[in-house]
Amino acid sequence: MCSVGDAFGIDMAERLNPKEYRCKDCGNEFKGIGKNVLCPACQSNTVELA
Ligand SMILES: [Zn+2]
Repeated sequence: MCSVGDAFGIDMAERLNPKEYRCKDCGNEFKGIGKNVLCPACQSNTVELA
């Protein structure tokens, strides 16, 4: 056994069922999880469900 952080993170993401978001600042569309979703492109928290 070993502790691979990335594999654990991917497994958690799939369990939480990520939703599609759109950034209002730059228009980037991405999958987000949780309450405080940040745009991966510009780090803005002004996002909406796509
Ligand atoms: Zn953005």
